[in-house]
Amino acid sequence: MITEVMARYGELSTKGKNRKLFIKQLGKNVAYVLNDFPALTIKANRDRLHIELNGEAYEEIVDRLKKVFGIQTISPVIKVDKTIEQANRAALYLLNQEYKDGKTFKITARRADHDWTFETNEVNQIIGQFITETIPGIKVKMKKPDINIRVEIRLDGIFLSTDSIQGAGGLPGGTSGKGMLMISGGIDSPVAGYYALKRGIELEAVHFHSPPYTSPQALQKAKDLTGKLVEFTGPITFIEVPFTEIQETIKKYVPQGYVMTITRRMMLKLTDIIRAQRSGLAIINGESLGQVASQTLESMSVISEVTNTPVLRPLISMDKNDIIKIAEEIDTFDLSILPYEDCCTIFSPPKPRTKPKLSHVLENEAKIDVEGMIERAIAGISIEEIGLNQSKETEQKALFEDLL
Ligand code: ATP
Ligand code: MG
Repeated sequence: MITEVMARYGELSTKGKNRKLFIKQLGKNVAYVLNDFPALTIKANRDRLHIELNGEAYEEIVDRLKKVFGIQTISPVIKVDKTIEQANRAALYLLNQEYKDGKTFKITARRADHDWTFETNEVNQIIGQFITETIPGIKVKMKKPDINIRVEIRLDGIFLSTDSIQGAGGLPGGTSGKGMLMISGGIDSPVAGYYALKRGIELEAVHFHSPPYTSPQALQKAKDLTGKLVEFTGPITFIEVPFTEIQETIKKYVPQGYVMTITRRMMLKLTDIIRAQRSGLAIINGESLGQVASQTLESMSVISEVTNTPVLRPLISMDKNDIIKIAEEIDTFDLSILPYEDCCTIFSPPKPRTKPKLSHVLENEAKIDVEGMIERAIAGISIEEIGLNQSKETEQKALFEDLL
């Protein structure tokens, strides 16, 4: 009976000149996640996306839409011809989906077609009365009813829906440029990636590993975490950087207190080179202020000194508990707490400096072949697409009809 699913953009509709581009991108992204339902038609207009079901069941479609950034709310909708009898029947159907003894309801009608037979208040009354006569004992409640049935009378039909399902919010993926996510196997970096995606950034993932000190499982874990982010965006390029030589060399030649700082500087330098090669605009990491020695402001400023590229830290002011909550919501937590150590844990000395001095850092870096090691690490990177199992550009285009 549900004939379409409607998605509202929210924040998008206020984006001025960019709006059209944003909506087009959103339509493509939605077409991408629904691409194995060829019967659907997806239509975008100024403030809503209409996904016509053409016989498909709506539940799975709603679940997928809940993960698409740029959507504020989602409603399953019944579209009927413009007769009050049809509206009555559709309202009853929607109500029955949610009604249990004792629940209250209300009808909220709106008219875009001002010439239609009945006015808003009449529609509320007629349908309300039909419902109370049909379901014995049901009560109307104007303020905060359990079930609110919206009835929109438009030129091309009457659209009925119950209250909206919360969408993911944010901006559509691919509308904010490209950034490189430094992804470890920990709890924080996938959550940072999620927040970057939420604001429309297209991500590529960069991961440092140090075989044989780090296991194949640790590498696989970083890929699996990236795979979780794919669900919010589509395929992500995963870039694997060999880091063994650098870590061994630093451990051998650099005093303990500076190992962490110099290791981080090397990571950031390498990420920045890869970013430049691949036309990224920013670097994203999972740092949160004060969490560990490398995440004091003093450390961050000495580490960031290697580049002018914006280093975005979506988690900077979040408490660990709040980060964990999000990790659970996006289903990365269980993977993140698997015990495979990553390169930093294994090589980290007991007492890293929390307030490293740039002059000392530079003196220590002079003892090692920074340029040569960077060159070799870059030469050894390997690149893989994670999650490339469904998208076909041509199919998406056929599915998405742009009505802007
Ligand atoms: P996470 O839970 O994301 O590992 P963390 O609290 O353990 O974070 P650190 O290990 O100090 O913190 O790392 C800080 C950030 O540096 C990470 O969030 C990540 O962005 C980046 N990072 C750390 N290790 C790696 C790695 N092996 N590959 C790529 N990036 C890394
Ligand atoms: Mg870590």
